[in-house]
Amino acid sequence: MSGARGEIPLSRPDVTEHEIAAVTAVLRTPHLSLGPRVAAFEECVAARVGARYAVAVSSGTAALHLCVRALGIGPGDEVITTPFSFVASANCVLFEGARPVFVDIDPVTLNLDAKRVAAAITPRTKALLPVHVFGLPAPMDALLELARTHGLAVIEDACEALGAYYCGRHVGTLGDCGTFGFYPNKQITTGEGGMIVTNREDIARLAYSLRNQGRDDGMGWLSHARLGYNYRLSDINCALGIAQMERLEEILSARAKVAAWYEELLATEAPTVVRPCAPPAGSTRSWFVYVVQLPPGYTAGERDALIKHLRAQGIGCNHYFPCIHLQPFYRAEFGYGPGDFPVAEEISARSVALPFYNRLQREEVATVARAVGAWLRGHRSGA
Ligand SMILES: *Cc1c(COP(=O)(O)O)cnc(C)c1O
Repeated sequence: MSGARGEIPLSRPDVTEHEIAAVTAVLRTPHLSLGPRVAAFEECVAARVGARYAVAVSSGTAALHLCVRALGIGPGDEVITTPFSFVASANCVLFEGARPVFVDIDPVTLNLDAKRVAAAITPRTKALLPVHVFGLPAPMDALLELARTHGLAVIEDACEALGAYYCGRHVGTLGDCGTFGFYPNKQITTGEGGMIVTNREDIARLAYSLRNQGRDDGMGWLSHARLGYNYRLSDINCALGIAQMERLEEILSARAKVAAWYEELLATEAPTVVRPCAPPAGSTRSWFVYVVQLPPGYTAGERDALIKHLRAQGIGCNHYFPCIHLQPFYRAEFGYGPGDFPVAEEISARSVALPFYNRLQREEVATVARAVGAWLRGHRSGA
């Protein structure tokens, strides 16, 4: 539903009485952390995605960090990833003193371009870190083949892709390890939270220890086998996660329905806008956000003007994604600048995330589509 002033937010979590009851029940027990809901949530996610192990952690970023750490990636190592993602997918490499090496994207899928990945591999490359951007699976066949050939690990950032499949396998389970994120704008939320999934026992064991101050199974509370972190997820968060997982199919189909309305209504109201691509053969997308591009030739300035115009009408929207290499910190630290990854930059300049959440109504989608169409018709009417 819209807010008080008829506003349509960019995103909003879908929390029902089912989740509220589940969280309240935990609060009536003495087990607020390191209790039974943690393992239950992990089992729930492992079963759903078909992974042998799942490790709940405090955020998607923590999940990525522990994957990098558990693989022993460190100073002098390179990890190939995409500049068109959320900053955490490159920051996790920096946390361990290794270097993220960016490779430009495919202009249609917006995922890593596997052909360019091959050219970026050096003797220092230790891992590939593909991101399933906006819930669309990255080209895993080609990436896994490169990893096999060059002896590289594969970390899948599936933080935006719970529910997406690549050739019959759930994303996150194709490489050595994968991550999910449960911030409130993701497919399911735990408030804050994340999950590592893996079929490798060594990675799972290390991750369980690293998230819990480096303790090992059976060790005392004040006995630490290795340098660890407090990346635990509480039973309160996990209860919310379990309740959300129980509604996952309903949530995924609600999101797919909203995306179908956008597809239909933008085609009539704003036909020149570039809509998200259909998944490549063998892949299914899990809808995370609804990001469109202004037609080729439009500039970042014009995109910003559209965002301003939509916001003035109470329509939530944002620039998704600004390129990671152009973030102030990356420019200062590594000397990146405009032109380094031209495909990602050009797509990023024209991209706008439109309101997208489970309860968005068809009439609200129509309002957004009409507002985008009207702006486009008015904007270059003289051209
Ligand atoms: C959301 C997200 C993450 C994890 O974010 P957290 O806020 O730390 O849970 C990581 N990578 C990508 C691509 C994301 O979209």
